[in-house]
Amino acid sequence: MLLKIYQTGQPVLRNNSNKVSIDKLNKKETQQLIDLMIETLRDSPGVGLAAPQVGEPLRILIVEDLAKYHEQIPIDVLKSQERKPVKLKVFVNPELEVIEQEEALFFEGCLSVDGYVAAVPRAKTVKIDAVDRYGKPISYTAKGWFARILQHEYDHLNGTLMIDRMKTNSFMNQKNFNSLWRKALPSKIKKEFGNQ
Ligand code: ZN
Repeated sequence: MLLKIYQTGQPVLRNNSNKVSIDKLNKKETQQLIDLMIETLRDSPGVGLAAPQVGEPLRILIVEDLAKYHEQIPIDVLKSQERKPVKLKVFVNPELEVIEQEEALFFEGCLSVDGYVAAVPRAKTVKIDAVDRYGKPISYTAKGWFARILQHEYDHLNGTLMIDRMKTNSFMNQKNFNSLWRKALPSKIKKEFGNQ
């Protein structure tokens, strides 16, 4: 069963989400929510999904960046993005810390801002501490695209969307991105939108 993905304008996307107690995490309904989030993410397809995006104000996010999603992206772009496949990960009650202040500027999209993309500056390296879906502590230092996905999804838990952080003059629909910017390297993106 696929979950409905809420679009910008829905209040649940603008609220702070609630911590999940171990009791609640162990409940069948929470485990089922996580399963359905995974199914919904894969169907979309997308690389990250936070519980508020499916209407649940809970501090749960999932990430999965499959190699097959990279097939349409030029290799030099993938390299500049430091984008590598990331196996499915479930983060509950995550805490995010910026490790490298320096930012990278790339286009990103959001399943809750369907059909549009924009250039968003994000820290290059972050550390995430959380528990997994079984309550076991997990910790990763993430670089490049993985770091970007984590910052994007973590923002969702605090009611922040990519449109709050984007270079506003870079906002465009997917069609124009595909025809004009899909092959752009960081220097070009920075030159065009970096000074805003
Ligand atoms: Zn999003």
